Amino acid sequence: MQLLSGKAVSEVRRCEIQKRAAIFAKKQGRKAGLAVVLVGDDPASHVYVKNKIKACEEVGLASFHHPLPGNSTESAVLRLLERLNEDPGVDGLLVQLPLPRHLDSKKIINHIRADKDADGLTIENMGLLFAGQPRVSPCTPSGVMEILRHYKIKVAGQHCVVVGRSQIVGRPMAQLLLSADATVTVAHSKTPDLSSVTRMGDIVVVAAGKPRFLGVSDFKKGAVVVDVGIHRTDEGLCGDVRWDGLEGHVRAATPVPGGVGPMTITQLLENTLILAENRG
Ligand code: NAD
Repeated sequence: MQLLSGKAVSEVRRCEIQKRAAIFAKKQGRKAGLAVVLVGDDPASHVYVKNKIKACEEVGLASFHHPLPGNSTESAVLRLLERLNEDPGVDGLLVQLPLPRHLDSKKIINHIRADKDADGLTIENMGLLFAGQPRVSPCTPSGVMEILRHYKIKVAGQHCVVVGRSQIVGRPMAQLLLSADATVTVAHSKTPDLSSVTRMGDIVVVAAGKPRFLGVSDFKKGAVVVDVGIHRTDEGLCGDVRWDGLEGHVRAATPVPGGVGPMTITQLLENTLILAENRG
């Protein structure tokens, strides 16, 4: 079984991004910049934001951290976004999810100017993606595509099964695979006999958000398994896929940790740079 290391792909990609970021900075007399808005004090979100900011520094992007208290009103968040939308030093802008329950995530995300939407989650950018003309694509699924590309895993003509239909992973994942000429099946929580569906997949992308949910009997022999899930358990991090028995059965798989996770931040850096280059 081939190990598809997102960590290794990420290192290669970040070197390329660093070079492009330096060219941008030289040409424009400023670094491309990413602003991150974090509302509240969810510990996991704090770690993600810290990692995003660190990654920006490492590749030569400017980063601007905007923490807001957990009891912030919707209008306070929208006002901050309006300011960042107009800030010429901000090329990419994201709101860390999940937001506290009293805030309307859809409304807030759609307040981000589409040409600064570093996560590619606004309706406009989703529409462009689904029309096959993406400006930037959501980071996790585009990270999966980069892993497949790096390891020369053929996608065109393959039957790809995506487990999960969320806005940030499943749906855009299916669209990216479709744009790469795959035959795509999307399975979700209402799909009966999930195993019979996943066993059809030449490539199976698992994003159900359920720890160790699928195992060897859910994949056909020779399948490529991409595990998007990430869960903190008492025994450490794990994904949506159980590893026992996979060796010798599937052709390749992404590990957790070190698989899709590192690629998500790398794609965020890439998206920020694309948006900066588009703006000039
Ligand atoms: P989500 O909870 O929004 O969506 C889960 C999807 O799985 C839903 O569409 C649901 O229909 C489907 N599902 C749930 N139970 C199912 C079942 N029994 N059978 C089939 N489908 C089922 O989650 P999400 O935001 O899409 O994230 C999915 C996983 O990916 C989570 O573990 C999340 O932590 C992880 N994630 C990882 C990264 C990363 O960078 N590695 C980024 C985003 C999300």
